[in-house]
Amino acid sequence: MFSYRHGFHAGNHADVLKHTALIAVLKHLTAKPTALTVVDTHAGAGLYRLDSDFAGTSGEAQDGVLRLAASPLATDPALSPLVRDYLDLVASFNPKGGLKVYPGSPFVIQSLLRHEARDRLRLFEMHPTDSKALAGHVAQMEAGRQVAVQRADGFESLRALLPPPSRRALVLIDPSYEIKSDYAKVAACIQESLKRFVTGTYFVWYPVIPRPEAHELPRRLKTIANHAARPWLHATLSIGQSEAKAPVGEPAKGHGLTASGVFVVNPPHTLKAGLQLALPQLLEALGRGRGKGQALESAG
Ligand code: SAM
Repeated sequence: MFSYRHGFHAGNHADVLKHTALIAVLKHLTAKPTALTVVDTHAGAGLYRLDSDFAGTSGEAQDGVLRLAASPLATDPALSPLVRDYLDLVASFNPKGGLKVYPGSPFVIQSLLRHEARDRLRLFEMHPTDSKALAGHVAQMEAGRQVAVQRADGFESLRALLPPPSRRALVLIDPSYEIKSDYAKVAACIQESLKRFVTGTYFVWYPVIPRPEAHELPRRLKTIANHAARPWLHATLSIGQSEAKAPVGEPAKGHGLTASGVFVVNPPHTLKAGLQLALPQLLEALGRGRGKGQALESAG
């Protein structure tokens, strides 16, 4: 526990997929004037420097947001609205140009919330260092009562928040899966949350890795959503294996996670069409070798 630090992975291909879809969901949910409650059960540190020792060591943003932003697609008028929104949001954290700062989910979400509608954001992060960093970043933002940070278990804490007073909610569940039990916890959390608040939008990220629990998770989530008679959407992006060999004496970079997925219960009805345009473009910009691909399925 606690060996995972999102700073090593910030802005990688998995963040690109997750945050692109997250922005699309939030833009839809905040188009209605009524208040929205957002819960981020596994928030991370909130803001990351892409030129830090962390990010520099792993080089993962290089194969993610940095590659996307530098690709010819980024300036192509045919760029999909979802990818445009993602790149614009990341760029807004870098007003001097370049991409040095990367917003994690807390700041992706917060930048889309509305004060006048009384939207609320609840953030949970267990890591001692990252929860401190998150609290500091949020304090700097002077968001007042809109954002609350707690060093607490996100799975456990979610229970008390559903149903929210606003009766409209988005829940992001984005664990590090460093312990195998996280997969079962995600499935149980969705099942229980749907019982408490069936109309909430639940957004899960998971790694596509050769591990039975990871393989099973989207299947279990489909079964849970189908039993609750709720619509769902499932999208995956695989950038494939890197063909590049690391220079002699240097650690291999980018040989870690090559694919990930997002599973959304009660997705906005616009999300599928948006991702249908966005996913092939993300693949074109980020795909790099054997095993690359994207997939999108939905029901309801
Ligand atoms: N959602 C973030 C984003 O998109 O920027 C990334 C989150 S990272 C994948 C997962 C985080 O969950 C890690 O920072 C880890 O310390 C934290 N964590 C692990 N178990 C947790 C738990 N039970 N409750 C809350 N946070 C937890």
